[in-house]
Amino acid sequence: MKRRDADVVVIGSGAGGGFAATALAEAGWRVLLLERGPRFKPDDFPTRHADWETRAVPFAAASSAIDPSIEWTPGAVIDPAHRSLCSRALHAPMPTTTHRGRFRYERAFGVGGTTLQYQGEAHRFAPHAFLPQTLFGLGRDWPVRYEDLEPFYERAEQWLGVAGDAEHPFKPSRGPYPGPAHPLSTKSQWARRGVEQLGWTLFPNPLALPSIPHGTQPPCQHAGVCTRGCPFGAKSSVDRAVLPRALATGRLEIIEKARVMRLESTDHGRIRSVMYRKDGATHHASAAVFVLAAGALESPRLLLTSTSPSCPEGIGNRHDQVGRHLMETVLSAVTVEADQPVAGWKGPPIDARVWDFGMPTPGEGRSGFVLGVSGTMSRFHGPTSYAAAIPGFGLEHKNAMRERFGRIITLFGITDHQPHPENRLVLSSQTDETGMPKVRIHSDYRDVELATLGTMQDRLMQWAHACQPKAITELFSSYSHPSVTHLAGTCIMGSDPTTSVTDHHGRVHDSPNLFITDASILPGQGMGDSPSLTIHALALRTAEEIHKILQTK
Ligand SMILES: Cc1cc2nc3c(=O)[nH]c(=O)nc-3n(C[C@H](O)[C@H](O)[C@H](O)COP(=O)(O)OP(=O)(O)OC[C@H]3O[C@@H](n4cnc5c(N)ncnc54)[C@H](O)[C@@H]3O)c2cc1C
Ligand code: SF4
Repeated sequence: MKRRDADVVVIGSGAGGGFAATALAEAGWRVLLLERGPRFKPDDFPTRHADWETRAVPFAAASSAIDPSIEWTPGAVIDPAHRSLCSRALHAPMPTTTHRGRFRYERAFGVGGTTLQYQGEAHRFAPHAFLPQTLFGLGRDWPVRYEDLEPFYERAEQWLGVAGDAEHPFKPSRGPYPGPAHPLSTKSQWARRGVEQLGWTLFPNPLALPSIPHGTQPPCQHAGVCTRGCPFGAKSSVDRAVLPRALATGRLEIIEKARVMRLESTDHGRIRSVMYRKDGATHHASAAVFVLAAGALESPRLLLTSTSPSCPEGIGNRHDQVGRHLMETVLSAVTVEADQPVAGWKGPPIDARVWDFGMPTPGEGRSGFVLGVSGTMSRFHGPTSYAAAIPGFGLEHKNAMRERFGRIITLFGITDHQPHPENRLVLSSQTDETGMPKVRIHSDYRDVELATLGTMQDRLMQWAHACQPKAITELFSSYSHPSVTHLAGTCIMGSDPTTSVTDHHGRVHDSPNLFITDASILPGQGMGDSPSLTIHALALRTAEEIHKILQTK
């Protein structure tokens, strides 16, 4: 058995762990970062190869059908009164879907975490999203406000070289972004005609896909394949844009392919060490402070499995809060075929958004949502996926490809899942290949999600018609087909230890040297905005708190 010592051990190198580790190394502390997956180079990505659409994505944690961490259970019952909210072909009869589909959670294992896979949307949550209960009677108020996070948002944007337009009509005033916004892609210019007719605003999306050179990264080449790995190394994933800063200090050690299996605690709740597996051997690492950032599924799983005689219910779980308040991605998408070529495959995948509906009306029982344009979200993206999806054979197929390729795009919207204590994960009696218990998930939509999804779908259809496309073909809905990219909650932060897992710094109640900096601590999902920038900002804030604690030791 080998012992490793550091000032801080960080578990997981993604959006939360990578930022915390880097801030702490830059602040002068010796950091050991344990990452379950390997380090990838652009050459490892499918996008460097001609068969990029069909080649397996090496960092994807699970195939769409099988996730070794999750026990399969039947989905919740679909409310017959809301069947029209389910996925369907728009010219077919209403579906008879009775249950929600299999819980599908997309995430990446590797140095950089799920930012290897993300599309670089870099959103600050709006100030009202931190006070949903006070302002709108929704969800839970956060124990931090926009003003608390503002300086950390700013720092995260600088580290990532975010490209954006500071004149946002629906967000607080701010200074310039590190880089100018990307010009709108052809597909977004086409979708703008519908937006303008409706009197809404299509605004450039702030993106961690730099528009000018950023450190060693070239600017984004508008290749549109971010989710399969940027072939140019342009995307500001955490491994490219952030961890090199920490490695340059000489104080960060990254151990890749090191899977933490257990947190080892003293009788008083302090974490003594972590046990991890690497190359078939067991190791332990000890430190003064531990940062858990394995993501919103693996972090609660680790806490729940790390039982001991003094902590039989798992770490931080004295009040049965670990795993609760699970929040999915609540998404709806309409597939449209443009009446002219729009090069749907080209440009940053989501380069424009509509924020007109981000602010809910108090008392209406609906949350805010944000709409957007995507060229990559449907089953139509590059030539192979078009060829597979377009019917016909021989010359007929060839002509259909000539006519339709690049014209099929998606108009979509995202809202938030309310943090409900009954939506949760618990340990399963089934185990994965290492013998670790899987998780069993119970998650459903209630009145607020269903009402918001209904309004969002109406707005999407309005937009689609206003664009005057050649066809509007399909509706995708996460109500019938859970498709989770923004999993959150599960170790929620709050001020009351009986209804939360951590305090406002991510410090686990009852475990004074354990902090969580991943998506699991989020008490809400930002009313349609994407979560990573908020995860980064919270991690930087937590790192500052850990720095203060370590200075006093
Ligand atoms: C296709 C897709 C597109 C997305 N696009 C966007 C976007 O444009 N903008 C946005 O804001 N968000 C986006 N997201 C969501 C965003 O990527 C995640 O919300 C974010 O990365 C979560 O951060 P995290 O720190 O919680 O977890 P992760 O980034 O997933 O990091 C967790 C890390 O922990 C490691 N780990 C897990 N278990 C262990 C263990 N036992 N021991 C050691 N290491 C472990 C994992 O390998 C991983 O590296 C997208 C997600 C997907 C799937
Ligand atoms: S859109 Fe930009 S960042 Fe994304 S894969 Fe293409 S070049 Fe890379």
